[in-house]
Amino acid sequence: MSMVQHEQDSVLQDTSRVAGRQALRNNVEAAVALADAVRSTLGPKGLDKMLLGSDGSTLVTNDGVTVLETAKVLHPTAQMLISTSRAQDDEVRDGTTSTVILTAELLVNALELVDRGIHPATIASGYRMCLPIIEKVLKDISRKSTSNDSLNTVITSLAGKGDQGLQNVLAELAHNAAIREGTGIPEDTRIIKHRTGSIMSSKLVSGIVLAKSRVHREMSMKPDTGRILVLDGGLEKRKPEIDANLKITQLGAIKAFQERENIDLQKRVDDLVSAKISCLIVRDGIEDDAHIMLADAGILAYRRVERQDLEDICRATGSRPIFDLGDIDDEDVGVFSRIYEEKWNNVDHVIIEGPTKSGNTVVLRGSTDLRLEEAKRAFDDALGVACQLIREPYILPGGGASQIALARQLRRFAETIPGREQMAIEGFAAALEAIPRILSSNAGLDPIDELLRATAAQADSKSAWQGLDINSGQITDMGEVSVTEPLSVTKHAISGATEAAISVLRIDDVLWAKQDAQEPDWREEGD
Ligand code: ADP
Ligand code: MG
Repeated sequence: MSMVQHEQDSVLQDTSRVAGRQALRNNVEAAVALADAVRSTLGPKGLDKMLLGSDGSTLVTNDGVTVLETAKVLHPTAQMLISTSRAQDDEVRDGTTSTVILTAELLVNALELVDRGIHPATIASGYRMCLPIIEKVLKDISRKSTSNDSLNTVITSLAGKGDQGLQNVLAELAHNAAIREGTGIPEDTRIIKHRTGSIMSSKLVSGIVLAKSRVHREMSMKPDTGRILVLDGGLEKRKPEIDANLKITQLGAIKAFQERENIDLQKRVDDLVSAKISCLIVRDGIEDDAHIMLADAGILAYRRVERQDLEDICRATGSRPIFDLGDIDDEDVGVFSRIYEEKWNNVDHVIIEGPTKSGNTVVLRGSTDLRLEEAKRAFDDALGVACQLIREPYILPGGGASQIALARQLRRFAETIPGREQMAIEGFAAALEAIPRILSSNAGLDPIDELLRATAAQADSKSAWQGLDINSGQITDMGEVSVTEPLSVTKHAISGATEAAISVLRIDDVLWAKQDAQEPDWREEGD
């Protein structure tokens, strides 16, 4: 089931700068070694990898980008591929393994063309010519995603990560959170981890959830709408200054000072009352003496709230943090629709709901920290994909179907190009077919047979949605078996891989230019 992965092959070791074709060869080898490290993880039947840390620690993962980031890779090309894959992860949260595999395939095919006497710059230009065609074809194949399609797409994106039950629960949570939030920004959904119960009992709560209790028991909760103020500071007494003419040895003086301070506190509470504030959220402390004053004034207050939480509360309630209670501007005041506390596993939690749908919290549950971490990683990915589908609600067939359709269209396009770029375009088409090939072989199927079968099915049915369903081993409509991907993920993976491959080809070009120009051993004739 698992494969021990020590350090990468020797080809991943740093190379000295080698000129010309040899440099390209080395770079391609590095890319291939990297792709080899992750190809077995591609798809729902992809294998897990066991990574060994230098300290003897182990991590089992099926996540391509995790594998790559853990490997200690020095080769600049390999590093560039890893950062392309990381960019894919940062931007679209999925498709990282595909990106690396595609980059390596593009480079292998490029090297083959170089060996046949085609200049890297010509190949780069042919590759670039493919991009607008790919964009158009993908747009044509894609279909608008219904809410159910989006949910299924998120489930597909988790294939291979954890068990089916976990995948379904996390996908549904992510899907609902993304819809409720509606911004398409994953960071807008809050996630809190609660170490109790089973992952299956994880839930989505509308509102900002904080593991906090109000500063004074006598403060009443706010079941109805009211005004909320967020203080990025504290409601504290001033410390007596050293040089104040205050003889704190004298009991009377201390008392007088405290009274003055209390009057001052009361004045600030009165200001809150005049501003009709009924909930106060404070980043720093709230003086003990102020607790009862606030309670008496009917103000519900929370202290020691972290800055990120303050920001989330502001977003949910439309408030703006103020730094000093002395100047409360009406524009800084937000609105809540409900504030209530609940005890979860004996910990008080306050839930602050704003008038809009924004500010939701996913409460992930799990019996151990390890389970929680695993769930959190999978949830982050699911949420990322769900948010992609909010921003661009279009889906493509998975199971290699989109890549097969692109390959077919690119070959047709190649025929219309009279120059040497034609061969590069064909090379691009062949590179895309690596995805269905590897998906098949990871599932124990014959990669060539399956690719041929799927290609023929697309031609027969005139539908780009025909692909290989790994679960059943059948060539079928990917929409019917809900093996779908966000358009943005596939598009991004292909364009990222293309850019990466082109820059490797260009490195070679630059090195060649610095070399002796008298020896154009692989320059095109007639150049
Ligand atoms: P990546 O890091 O590139 O997202 P994954 O390991 O997540 O790699 O694999 C994604 C690939 O698996 C996609 O091409 C997707 O279409 C494919 N896939 C997922 N489920 C199935 C399935 N049931 N049948 C065929 N392909 C599938
Ligand atoms: Mg994936």
